[in-house]
Amino acid sequence: MSNRDSFDICVIGAGVIGLATAYELAKKYKNQDVSIVILESESSFGQHISSRNSEVIHAGIYYPTDSLKAKLCVEGKELLYSYSEQFNIPHKKIGKLIVAKKSEANALTQLREKAIANGVLDLQFLNRAELQKLEPEIDAHAALLSPSTGIIDSHAYMQSLLHQAEILGVQFAPYSRVEKIDTDKETFVMHCQIGENKNAEEYQFDCRQLINSAGLQAQSIARTISKVPKNTIPKLHYCKGDYFDYRGHNPFSHLIYPMPEANTAGLGIHATMDLSSQLKFGPDTDFVENIAFEIDDSKAKTFARNISSYFPAIKTADLKPAYSGIRPKLSGQSEAAVDFNIQGESVHGVPGLIQLFGMESPGLTASLAIGKHIARSVQL
Ligand SMILES: Cc1cc2nc3c(=O)[nH]c(=O)nc-3n(C[C@H](O)[C@H](O)[C@H](O)COP(=O)(O)OP(=O)(O)OC[C@H]3O[C@@H](n4cnc5c(N)ncnc54)[C@H](O)[C@@H]3O)c2cc1C
Repeated sequence: MSNRDSFDICVIGAGVIGLATAYELAKKYKNQDVSIVILESESSFGQHISSRNSEVIHAGIYYPTDSLKAKLCVEGKELLYSYSEQFNIPHKKIGKLIVAKKSEANALTQLREKAIANGVLDLQFLNRAELQKLEPEIDAHAALLSPSTGIIDSHAYMQSLLHQAEILGVQFAPYSRVEKIDTDKETFVMHCQIGENKNAEEYQFDCRQLINSAGLQAQSIARTISKVPKNTIPKLHYCKGDYFDYRGHNPFSHLIYPMPEANTAGLGIHATMDLSSQLKFGPDTDFVENIAFEIDDSKAKTFARNISSYFPAIKTADLKPAYSGIRPKLSGQSEAAVDFNIQGESVHGVPGLIQLFGMESPGLTASLAIGKHIARSVQL
């Protein structure tokens, strides 16, 4: 026996997925004297990918049928709406319109078929006149209305997940950066730096189960785990997405998405809004080498050109840089999209270890379903 502190389960990363996972594990092991800790390198939760997204509760339309993205999005959407009702998380099922030009009519039909195969059964076709009635500023030949798409206050959601997890006994450790992980028989030896930069101190503890949910750092943490074969760690591609705020009055009452272009890494520059009805456009897709969030103002012109294909009244001067996020993609530019990659022992051969790679959109929507999926596979 070592004389280090010891936890049964350790989750690395307090983004929305790490938090939802800790919450679901805490529910599974309620009243069973199982200790769970969440390690987070920042001062608080949700400072990375989870605070730089569209805050859309996706329906589950686009993803390949039977993929984890499709299944966990459809299941996660329902779980997220129920959770939001139960714990009073601000959200709105405002619905989304996928708008198509005449030349895209067949693709729109195919998209509906894919949605049905994914279990999204509530999409409605709208012709030009029906669309005009709902959204007079939109110019399109036809549209699909997705009534189950919504928006959520993701910060309030994460705060609540942490609170509920703590009520169930989970310990949250901010300012706790994982540096390296050794494997010692049936335990992991966690090497951390705890405290703020200058005053940080080394701290080691043991845990039996380890969930690597470190978002953009998941691969670099995986490389420090002594027994993980390097060839099981997928290559990470940073794909930046910028948003521009719309300066004028928001003319829309739904989220507006163009048809996704073939072989693009995103869903097209779409119109989303937050719960205060602030309209924004984005995100675009830009593969980058480094994590940096500056926005090039001159992109407003390209944004306006793209948006004018469905919202003709847009002007470049209506757009002002807002914020950006970086997707942890497992596919590079022009490569086919890759599914969530959730690895257990059968992939890397290390008992007790679960690693999450490529947790891009719809990770927020799917978070509770991902948490349940992981909780099911953890066996103490
Ligand atoms: C531009 C964009 C738009 C998106 N839009 C949507 C959307 O509308 N709807 C939707 O469902 N999904 C959306 N997503 C996807 C969603 O935001 C992500 O799937 C989700 O936030 C990922 O959460 P995470 O917990 O994996 O990562 P993160 O939120 O990045 O959390 C990882 C955490 O690990 C911590 N960490 C890293 N290294 C260490 C270490 N060494 N030690 C301790 N802690 C560490 C980090 O500080 C961080 O807090 C979008 C993503 C992007 C980028």
